[in-house]
Amino acid sequence: MEIRIVAVIGAGTMGAGIAQVCAQTGWETRLYDAFPEGLQKGMNSIHSFWDKGITRGKTTEEQKSNWSANLSAHEDIGEAVSNADLVIEAVPEIMSLKQEIFRKLEQITPSHSILATNTSGLPIRTIAESTNCSERVIGMHFFNPVPIMKLLEIVKHDSCSKNTIEVAQSISKSMGKESILVNDVPGFATSRLGVVLGNEAIRMLADGVASASDIDTAMRLGYRHPMGPLELTDLVGLDVRRDILNNLADAFDDEKYRPHPLLNRLVLEGFLGKKTGVGIYDWTSGEKKERDLKL
Ligand code: NAD
Repeated sequence: MEIRIVAVIGAGTMGAGIAQVCAQTGWETRLYDAFPEGLQKGMNSIHSFWDKGITRGKTTEEQKSNWSANLSAHEDIGEAVSNADLVIEAVPEIMSLKQEIFRKLEQITPSHSILATNTSGLPIRTIAESTNCSERVIGMHFFNPVPIMKLLEIVKHDSCSKNTIEVAQSISKSMGKESILVNDVPGFATSRLGVVLGNEAIRMLADGVASASDIDTAMRLGYRHPMGPLELTDLVGLDVRRDILNNLADAFDDEKYRPHPLLNRLVLEGFLGKKTGVGIYDWTSGEKKERDLKL
């Protein structure tokens, strides 16, 4: 199946990155968000990424102009998904919200279109079964920052068609990603390990084992992780990680996955990480700075 038109639902950290790569791939890409300021922020972040690429000599003016021509912003979901061959949902990690969106997509997308969710760990089957077209629903889990991270985790569920899986694999290739195919188990092959590491690093920070930057350095230099677990938590978003942990705790009925109280507190205080300027670290100067978390 040839992909020509892609709609991305949700213009946040992930939706903007996914739309950017789709536009760069050459597809007509429509970015939709339920909130005009969210949509604007997403469009701004894509254009600023391209502008930085030009400043650094990695992107040409001509490339930017071609990519921009492929990308459009939409405040109307019907307009965004009309004739779309592929829809990728990237709204917050809340099951009822995702189900509501997929029920709507079932009504307003062409019957051939692939409906993908970028959920970090919610069961794909539960999203798919809220529709009557579960065969074309699949998990396509991208990583942050999407234009840079190579991995695409494709998550199949019992009623997903072979065609949907094959098309998802071919989309991954076209986007320059390397895909893995994973069964529909909460947290998949990535988030389950990733969030546990991040949560444990927050527990160690709260217990006074070491400073945030020393805990991160331990994993970077001792285990060759490209980024420490606390810095990664700031990059992903503390609210996103908290939601994934709560979903895992519920799905496995296991309290070991519950977010540490410090993580809950930071989210309640609005310290969500890089996207709000402050999380475990302070990023407001444009650089990572250790902050007094008042543990
Ligand atoms: P985010 O909070 O940055 O963005 C969510 C966007 O969705 C916002 O722009 C918001 O305005 C919009 N939105 C909210 N309700 C909506 C609706 N009803 N319709 C359309 N748009 C709506 O979140 P994010 O970090 O981009 O995460 C999105 C999804 O991707 C989540 O399921 C998350 O678990 C997953 N994910 C996140 C990361 C990460 O590193 N942040 C990585 C992989 C997967």
